[in-house]
Amino acid sequence: MSRSIDLRSDTVTLPTDAMRRAMAEAEVGDDVYGEDPTVRRLEELGAEMVGKEAALFVPTGTMGNQVAVMTHTRRGEEVILEADSHIFFYEVGGLAALSGVQARTVPGRRGAMDPGQVEAAVREDNIHFPRTALVCLENTHNRSGGTVVPLENMAAVADVARRHGAAVHLDGARIFNAATALGVPPSKVAAPADSVMFALSKGLAAPVGSLVAGRREWVERARKNRKLLGGGMRQVGVLAAAGIVALTSMVGRLAEDHANARRLGEGIASIPGLAVDLETVQTNMVSFEVNKPGLTALELVARMGEQGVKANATGSSRIRLVTHKDVSAADVDETLRVLRRLLA
Ligand SMILES: *Cc1c(COP(=O)(O)O)cnc(C)c1O
Repeated sequence: MSRSIDLRSDTVTLPTDAMRRAMAEAEVGDDVYGEDPTVRRLEELGAEMVGKEAALFVPTGTMGNQVAVMTHTRRGEEVILEADSHIFFYEVGGLAALSGVQARTVPGRRGAMDPGQVEAAVREDNIHFPRTALVCLENTHNRSGGTVVPLENMAAVADVARRHGAAVHLDGARIFNAATALGVPPSKVAAPADSVMFALSKGLAAPVGSLVAGRREWVERARKNRKLLGGGMRQVGVLAAAGIVALTSMVGRLAEDHANARRLGEGIASIPGLAVDLETVQTNMVSFEVNKPGLTALELVARMGEQGVKANATGSSRIRLVTHKDVSAADVDETLRVLRRLLA
């Protein structure tokens, strides 16, 4: 067996040679003093791409989201989020632990909340109630299998928030996948939101880093909250340099990942004992059910691993596969051969 095919996540992508060169040659300074020219360039470029005034470089998407929540809210306020959203589901209770805010979840359909249900969840002015300070959106939606939330839905939910004086944050970890699938610039996806977080370290293959973007004054307050969380970094242009390569040279190829996910999804749909809703295969993920009696998702993942294919179980009978720049069309075909053998 040669190298393994790693379909666990697009976070496993390795930095490109161009990134490593840019990192080695990066001009740097102390970024807490605002003196790292490479970080500044990355922040300006990122802000421009998502159509916001300014941006802040953060080590992780999780810190980016948490800094955003902290900057939009005060302790005791309420945040409306989709029930399966990353911020609610996968960020270690950071809303409560770091910002002291309370979560109000609304169920979604493939990540999209119903604007009427969001409106019903907004608190009216009452001495007993917390204030609804923030509504969070997510696009693409991770736990729904990388589905794209329609722009009209985002706009309608953001409109509800705005009418009630709440801010809107977009968890756009994979905003470039959403933009690619929709055929629009990322600024269009981010437009309904006051702030947006997006990852450099997922499909764009930078080794580390995300950006949080919004209005200039808001980003300066977010910068202080990043410092509070211990995220003030020094000569971090060595990392920002890879982020610049990610934004300038890795966005265009995401369509290839989407085509590979489609090929994978269609192949899986034809394998007895596996079931996939092809309508959910919209970007670089395939989420499928294992329907063979006696075979759990964990067992199938273990057997795939023995055959050189790494995957993640996301439920007792559900497996998620993620395509990315280190997975080729040939790797997809090999994965399908392995699955056909294991399900035979
Ligand atoms: C990965 C992810 C994050 C968090 O990013 P990390 O860099 O892993 O902390 C946030 N939101 C969504 C939707 C994600 O997929």
